[in-house]
Amino acid sequence: MSSVKEKRFKKLKRKKIWPSIVAFVLFTLLCVGMIALFLQLFALYIMGTKIVQQYGEAQHVKAVLNGFLSNGDSITDAVDGLHKYTFGENNVYVMDSDGQMLIKTGSSEPDFGLVLDFKLNQEFGLDAGFVAVADSNNQFVHEGGPYTIFAMPVDEVIKRTFSPGAEHQGLGSWLNETIITQGYWLRAPLGDGEYDAYVKCIIQLQRQDIFYICIFGIIALLLLMIPIILLFINTLRSIVTQRRMTQLIYLDAVTGGKNWFYFRNYAERILTRWRNSKKPFAIVNLHLERYQNYCACYGVKAGEELLEAMDGFLKARIGKNEFFARFEGADFGLLLSCEGENVQENQENCSKRIRSLLAELSGLKPDQKIHFRAGINMIPPYQPEDGKWYHTRKNVDINQLYTYANAARISDNGADERQITFFDQEMLGKQMWERWVEDTMEEALNNGEFQVYMQPKYSPINGKLVGAEALVRWISPTEGLIAPGRFIPIFEDTGFITQLDDYMISQVAKLQAEWMIQGKKMIPVSVNVSRAHFAQEGLADHICQLVDAYGPKHELIELEVTESAFFDDKDILVETVKQLKAYGFHVSMDDFGAGYSSLNSLKDIPLDVLKLDGEFFRGDDDDGRGQIVVKEAIQLARSLDMRVVAEGIEKKEQVDFLAGQGCDMIQGFYFAKPMPIEEFEEKVEKDA
Ligand code: C2E
Ligand code: MG
Ligand code: MG
Repeated sequence: MSSVKEKRFKKLKRKKIWPSIVAFVLFTLLCVGMIALFLQLFALYIMGTKIVQQYGEAQHVKAVLNGFLSNGDSITDAVDGLHKYTFGENNVYVMDSDGQMLIKTGSSEPDFGLVLDFKLNQEFGLDAGFVAVADSNNQFVHEGGPYTIFAMPVDEVIKRTFSPGAEHQGLGSWLNETIITQGYWLRAPLGDGEYDAYVKCIIQLQRQDIFYICIFGIIALLLLMIPIILLFINTLRSIVTQRRMTQLIYLDAVTGGKNWFYFRNYAERILTRWRNSKKPFAIVNLHLERYQNYCACYGVKAGEELLEAMDGFLKARIGKNEFFARFEGADFGLLLSCEGENVQENQENCSKRIRSLLAELSGLKPDQKIHFRAGINMIPPYQPEDGKWYHTRKNVDINQLYTYANAARISDNGADERQITFFDQEMLGKQMWERWVEDTMEEALNNGEFQVYMQPKYSPINGKLVGAEALVRWISPTEGLIAPGRFIPIFEDTGFITQLDDYMISQVAKLQAEWMIQGKKMIPVSVNVSRAHFAQEGLADHICQLVDAYGPKHELIELEVTESAFFDDKDILVETVKQLKAYGFHVSMDDFGAGYSSLNSLKDIPLDVLKLDGEFFRGDDDDGRGQIVVKEAIQLARSLDMRVVAEGIEKKEQVDFLAGQGCDMIQGFYFAKPMPIEEFEEKVEKDA
């Protein structure tokens, strides 16, 4: 997934969930707050109504007492008078201006430790203030709030409200039953401030008062529950939708398992976690070989089922902190933890584990032969430069790490039986080089960066220059001189070699033509023709056209075919060689003895020249066996009427030996290395 898509996905993820959750939480808090506020206001309203009633009562007592006092009665007489007047219903508590208790009626008294002072007009529209004091018998006085005088623990209120109550008849009387009776004292200053009287009041709460509050609360709660539930459902749906969406985004459509995007995200997370930074991991590229061929034979559906089975198998084998996903085609990426005592053990453990995985995977389809390969990129424990323990792996790029594992897997090109390959930097350098060559080769050919070098061939008898081999050199403006060994194999793989061979043949033909026009000594020159070329139909005609474009004599051009070409389609090869010879060209077998020498091909193909590979002359030949082989090879060639060229000759003894055996030409550093044309032309003038 591209980074733009990834950003969009993350944005979508954030967008979907958070607004719903935040809205839900805010709305719920708001509702709870609102219910609490309403309940409190409602409770206050009921209490306030009751207090106002009591307040009227206290004012009445005050007026009676003041009446007695204004008649000149003492305070004691005034209280007695009040008692007679109210039939002893009102308890009063009188203090003088110094706070000394003068009279007290009733069993309880004000508890001055708990005083409430407020203005009634503020809340009930009365232009009066009052001071309320708790009663000493008050069983429910407890901490908190300005209304604490009238406070009672909620559980007690609820208990009393929903108790069966005394014997009563019907719902009405049950509701009217008094469940809370609480005394308190209201202050009534007497005369002109001489005395402070406190009138005992009783607040009585009936069951219905609390009941109404509860009913109100329940209705409010029910009403508010509807939007809360709707919002909750909506939030849940958002979360579920978002989860499903994430699952879809992480779903691999072919295997039904996780896809690469998932692997990348989670593998990166695992590797960058602090506790994992100290552990070694391996990124593995697991490849099912010849998947296309499998699909072609058994059908695409069967192919996809196989991938699905692989996914299921890997799921069962993958541990905690490990991941895998299909990358593309039949390639899976794995993140495995491979712990051991040291680097070598980490690698060995990893190798063992993957080998056994591959072995099991190969048995997935008992009736069909399937083969797997793996490339492994080991990720060592992270060692921060400054050695600080709290650092974790940074800038982990799973794609890059996987590319290296993949590079390791393809590095051996399926050439050997190795099933697993570990990545190393050299491998990367090689692949980067191959990429560079492939990217630049065509432009280089057009720009004339390929140049013809000539390596002279000498006669061992008279030491004269009698021939030459044209060898290509890539003179790159950025890389300098590049030897053919570094790019010819890549050209052969890509097929570009045919273009290069054509170019070299044309260049040699052009040179021969120029030398002829200039009246220079004419030297036969051999040109290498890659085996890839021999697969082409009409090669002889094609070469003929290239040469004839410049017009040199055909016998001045020799075509070198490597020995390996003789293993391809022999009939075409024989035909092409015959045609080339018919056109007057010479044909040689290059590198004879380097690989699997086919003596048989010497029988069937009418070649002119046999080029003995330089390997014959490498190393010690103490027991003289090498010399025997060379001697017999020369003898064989001569018997078949072929001339012999010995390649890679570097020592005088070798020259002397070859001269003694009747070798026709010698090509090697002993005489000359491959050289640019101008130098070669000078050499010809001197040595030919
Ligand atoms: P080759 O055709 O067998 O060429 C001979 C190689 O042996 C040349 O390597 C040459 O430099 C080297 N050589 C010659 N004498 C000595 C010696 O005394 N000691 C040592 N150590 N080496 C010696 P070069 O030029 O690097 O070419 C390597 C191969 O690349 C050639 O082997 C040939 O197979 C291929 N090649 C070169 N140019 C072309 C071309 O234009 N087309 C094709 N198809 N292949 C080419
Ligand atoms: Mg050659
Ligand atoms: Mg050779």
